[in-house]
Amino acid sequence: MKSSPNAESVAPRYRHSVTPRDIADEPDTEEITSLPQFRERVAGTFGVIVIQDVARDQPIAHHRECPFIREELFVEKIIDGGAHNGHYYWAKNSRIAADQLGTRRCKHPGDKLSGG
Ligand SMILES: [Zn+2]
Repeated sequence: MKSSPNAESVAPRYRHSVTPRDIADEPDTEEITSLPQFRERVAGTFGVIVIQDVARDQPIAHHRECPFIREELFVEKIIDGGAHNGHYYWAKNSRIAADQLGTRRCKHPGDKLSGG
């Protein structure tokens, strides 16, 4: 099957829906309120994902590849749950997350932030 002229003009790195971002243009933190936003942040090349749960005293900063960072959990809590029992945030790095959102680092062995 031949690709359309339009498809050929699109460079490979732009095939995904993820918009290339420059860290200099980013806010320090951002609340994640939609699934496209969640997907874009998790697929991004920098930043941490913060999960704040009203049942916990402290929000937790996770690496983007942490096993706890799962689309279905985000949907359950934020989309289906209407964010009544928690919130998701993106932060530029774990230090900013700790300073501005009061996070602690995830301790899951599969989380790259847990190492140090
Ligand atoms: Zn984690």
